Amino acid sequence: MSDPARKTVFLDIDNTLYSASSGISATMGKRIHEYFRSLGLEEEEASALHLKYYTTYGLALRGLILHHDVDPLDFDKKCDGSLPLEDLIKPNPSLRQLLQDIDRTKVNVWGLTNAYRPHAERVLRILNVDDLIDGIVFCDYQKPHFSCKPDPQFYRDALEKAQVPDVADVYFLDDSRINVDAARALGWGHVVHFCETGLVHVEGGKVKQISERKGPESQNGIEVIENLEGMRKVWPEIFK
Ligand SMILES: [Mg+2]
Repeated sequence: MSDPARKTVFLDIDNTLYSASSGISATMGKRIHEYFRSLGLEEEEASALHLKYYTTYGLALRGLILHHDVDPLDFDKKCDGSLPLEDLIKPNPSLRQLLQDIDRTKVNVWGLTNAYRPHAERVLRILNVDDLIDGIVFCDYQKPHFSCKPDPQFYRDALEKAQVPDVADVYFLDDSRINVDAARALGWGHVVHFCETGLVHVEGGKVKQISERKGPESQNGIEVIENLEGMRKVWPEIFK
């Protein structure tokens, strides 16, 4: 159970707790593209709007709700809910060990995701780490104006939900540079960018090679790790 007396570790789930090499982002990108097409949009228009909404709102779905009156639960069922996750990711013993080695007398460990709860829970269950996560902050598709990363409101809601008294004590890991920058801008204390340099993933329907932002200024004091074991190095104080 989550204990407010402990510090809080927030871990992003998609493309963080599993590798971008799983291909889930590409499969998800195809599903979302098909969803745009199902609204009667032509190929090119669907691709352009998918990217535009993702870039503008952090999630393609928010643009679909705002401009096309899409029901988020229908979107969730047809996109995230239909992903063949069991074929793409497997139970991960080393991730399980890593999470078990975190000292739970010091910290609570939460998931912090832009997906809806069923997808997040499904991923954690397949990876066999669901019992090691104290809580999940997710996008609540049932609320008409739900927030998502990188909105400051999403981060504020996360602090409230996890009962975090001091942002300086927060630990946060995410594969999206925009999301870690947003956390840092809000004063979150221990922010780390998970960056699998060289792999490809799909964002806003576009294939992108993952690369680290270069130069000390652009790093904004944020540590970068290329694999999850790197958490032991950048956050030694939270491990047993
Ligand atoms: Mg992610």
